[in-house]
Amino acid sequence: MSELKTIRVFCKRCGEWYEESVDMSVLSQSHTGVVSLAFDHGDHVLTVFLDSDLSVRGESVADKVKDDNHEPTRKALDYFDRY
Ligand SMILES: [Zn+2]
Repeated sequence: MSELKTIRVFCKRCGEWYEESVDMSVLSQSHTGVVSLAFDHGDHVLTVFLDSDLSVRGESVADKVKDDNHEPTRKALDYFDRY
């Protein structure tokens, strides 16, 4: 059985508050009583750390890596040059 609670988190990169639904069952899976949740914000990811009362203990913003598509693109161009 899962129970959804709404939390408010602030993303420094967006400069905005977000309301997010959190499945309470993720808290019971944590051994430390603190869980981290990642939210996709397009070109970056907001990670928030919640304790068992769903209080936000901290948050961090991480950039997504975009460079990993270069190699397949170059291979595809080689293919078309050859045929
Ligand atoms: Zn954001």
